[in-house]
Amino acid sequence: MSRATAGRNICELYAESEHEKVVLWSDPSSDYRGVIAVHSTALGPAVGGARFWNYRSDEEASLDALRLSRGMTYKSALAGLPFGGGKSVIIGDNRTTDRESIFRAHGRFVESFGGCYITAEDVGTTPADMEYVRMETRHVAGLMCGSGNPSPVTAHGVLRAMQAAAKHRWGTDDLKGVRVAVQGCGSTGYHLSKELHARGARLTVTDVDAARAETAAREFDAALVAPEEILDVEANIYAPCALGGVIDDRSLARLKAEVVVGSANNQLSEERHGDALEELGVTYVPDYLANAGGLINGCRELLGWDVERTLEKVRAIYDTTLLILALARSEGVAAHRMADRLAESRLAAAVQGSLR
Ligand code: NAD
Repeated sequence: MSRATAGRNICELYAESEHEKVVLWSDPSSDYRGVIAVHSTALGPAVGGARFWNYRSDEEASLDALRLSRGMTYKSALAGLPFGGGKSVIIGDNRTTDRESIFRAHGRFVESFGGCYITAEDVGTTPADMEYVRMETRHVAGLMCGSGNPSPVTAHGVLRAMQAAAKHRWGTDDLKGVRVAVQGCGSTGYHLSKELHARGARLTVTDVDAARAETAAREFDAALVAPEEILDVEANIYAPCALGGVIDDRSLARLKAEVVVGSANNQLSEERHGDALEELGVTYVPDYLANAGGLINGCRELLGWDVERTLEKVRAIYDTTLLILALARSEGVAAHRMADRLAESRLAAAVQGSLR
């Protein structure tokens, strides 16, 4: 699962990725224009947030919805959750103050899917926005009274994936003294740094927002580097916690770390970059495996799970990571391909079960 959409048009991607339903919807009365993509409901209703972004065209927005919804299917399947994958994108300036009409229109759009898609917050949307969505549909999570900020839970899942990668690579999951380069000190990067510091890891941090980087450096006794220097840091682990597409031909040539694991979605610029990591002998934990904690956190709201059951599932990211890395090693394939295979086998089993 990578970005890998460059140079392909929407029809090609749609045909290839086998989405169940994709709808572009506009509501002139509220100036709402958006796309909902349901990739799969084989495992349950398709869950995925609503991204509010100033896309340059309907095509760009649709491509993002296709790509992100497919990613949600795989993330949910790998985490063993009873959800499919979906995503919505709302086209426009997410700083608008006219939020009620936009998000009520989004709610009506979601309602038209009859429960096969459940929306939630994502980039550019907030729990307060989801309260407006709730006025029109009950198929929404991420409400103000809901499961709360997912970022600390996501960060804990990333830590568990990192511990498993360390065990796979170095025979111990003790991160004391291990050098970790953290790219991005936002919601997840900050909490990951906090957890790593508590376990005695030696941190180097960066952020394009200097104040965020300085706060993390001060609180977690971390070295500070400029954003463009993070790949050159002599670290054992590189933790991308900012943008997608950070693993590409250029970064591969500079990467010093032996392990890559972080919270950022779509870290591989293209699938082949995952193979290249494998060829370079770098242990890579697929992003959608490592960062599933946020989705798992949503189970408190969607499935009524208590905190302990939720955290147990997040801690299990450790076992799934160990399993995938071991299978990948024994079968001689890159970890991202093995993760895809496991997710796809769970989807196929669900489809077969429903046909019986
Ligand atoms: P965030 O916006 O809180 O933090 C991202 C940080 O990265 C910001 O501080 C930003 O200034 C910084 N940044 C941006 N470009 C940078 C660059 N070139 N170099 C260094 N720093 C840079 O976002 P977040 O919630 O921490 O999410 C980070 C990533 O994790 C995103 O890809 C997101 O999709 C993914 N993710 C987050 C969650 C969650 O629960 N928050 C769950 C799953 C996946």
